[in-house]
Amino acid sequence: PVHPASEPGDGADPAAHTGITADVAALRVSFDAGTTRDISARLAQLDALRRGLRRENRRLTQALAQDLGKNRTEAAITEIGAVMQEISHVTKHLRSWLRPEKLSLGALLAPASGEVRREPLGLTLIIAPWNYPLNLTLSPLVAALAGGNTAIIKPSEVAPATSAALAHLLRTYLDPAWVRVTEGAVEETTALLQQRFDLIFYTGNGTVGRVVARAAAEHLTPTVLELGGKSPVFVDEGVDLAVTARRIVWGKFTNTGQTCVAPDYLMATPRTLEKLLPHLRRAVREMYGRDPRRSRDYGRLVSEKHFDRVLSLIDDERAVLGGTGQADRADRYLAPTLMTGVDWDDPVMGEEIFGPVLPLLAVDGPDEAIARIRERDKPLTAYVFTDRAAIQERFATETSSGSLAVGMALAHIGTPTLPFGGVGESGSGAYHGRAGLEAFTHAKPVARKALTPDTLRIVYPPYTRAKRAL
Ligand code: NAD
Repeated sequence: PVHPASEPGDGADPAAHTGITADVAALRVSFDAGTTRDISARLAQLDALRRGLRRENRRLTQALAQDLGKNRTEAAITEIGAVMQEISHVTKHLRSWLRPEKLSLGALLAPASGEVRREPLGLTLIIAPWNYPLNLTLSPLVAALAGGNTAIIKPSEVAPATSAALAHLLRTYLDPAWVRVTEGAVEETTALLQQRFDLIFYTGNGTVGRVVARAAAEHLTPTVLELGGKSPVFVDEGVDLAVTARRIVWGKFTNTGQTCVAPDYLMATPRTLEKLLPHLRRAVREMYGRDPRRSRDYGRLVSEKHFDRVLSLIDDERAVLGGTGQADRADRYLAPTLMTGVDWDDPVMGEEIFGPVLPLLAVDGPDEAIARIRERDKPLTAYVFTDRAAIQERFATETSSGSLAVGMALAHIGTPTLPFGGVGESGSGAYHGRAGLEAFTHAKPVARKALTPDTLRIVYPPYTRAKRAL
């Protein structure tokens, strides 16, 4: 069925804002009417989303190719497949996760019983970024639906083809009593943020994250902030460098480095760096060929603005692979770039790279690597490649990051069984699988006690000597 929903905003048109107000009102009415409470109805919406993803697969895949030059297999794995997997996992476990958790209330309240229920929050807002424009819009939506909420979805205007395809998908397959879409940029998002929501789930950069948090504070709305940062990699001496290089290269150059958990910079001792470099080059060649520009598996930067920013971080004197000479602005192409001899205060170390540039930095061992991570903002992920259990343990306990992956890059966020989220400057709150349900619900304790016998009498005044001994 095709449902009428809000029209895409076109900037100055105040009708866009009227649409937002109408959407908010409609979704409040349907939530208050209890439309989203029934678990079977939630599962039906998840199923409708799954059906839509299957039927619209072609359109969505083409949109991802148009926006990001995303290869169709990569899109199948990291975008559509990831959401499908999330739907399957949540669908399979939802009833058991929603079963109230029975708890003892302790001797003082006995006889009594207690439980914790997962209560829907209400109307939620999901603001998504452009880099995995489908996955990062729909995975939070899966959690919102599973939690029994209504949702307004704001896809990223920076990936316009995907934004349009998502709007079509959601308006065609989901019930407008549950989900509405607002397309648009800053103006529309600003108008949305003036509304009162029961949760705002934002994925993107920390500057806008602050804008979102400030707007949310006005209504005391809780937020989940999925932000970014410079995710470090440490490669220890003695590891299998061929496998290590392949895992890092795949993690880095998938989606042309435009991944929030992409390895941002790599640390190792000078000796290990020297031995690792040929393996990194070889891994790039194995995956993308001698001329990555002609590879169907290598993507493009999202925009010219983004292209200019990433290129400004490259120092060609330090580039041992790729570099600004192997770039084409009109095509938004930048070759996989490796930089050696990088210093800690070089421009490339000043911000999240978010592109296909990997700086290699020399450290004198795990002690310095840990110290370097600790002196920076807490990253979304940290990666360590080491065979030594004691070093793995030191990274786990002595560094703080959204997550830690040992022996792999990127792949760990592909499983719905691990919560995914940041800490500190890389965000707050987490989702995927059960964590997503928890983010989109309130854990409500319900305590029950019969009126007779009135055992609470022991705490009523008058506070006699016998009661004082309690
Ligand atoms: P973006 O530019 O698409 O912005 C994200 C959203 O914010 C968009 O929907 C956009 O319309 C909205 N927005 C932009 N400016 C705004 C403003 N002034 N007021 C209100 N809303 C505004 O995406 P981005 O921020 O460039 O995304 C890249 C960043 O996101 C990187 O830092 C990356 O690490 C991070 N990221 C994090 C995750 C995660 O899961 N933690 C995932 C992907 C990306």
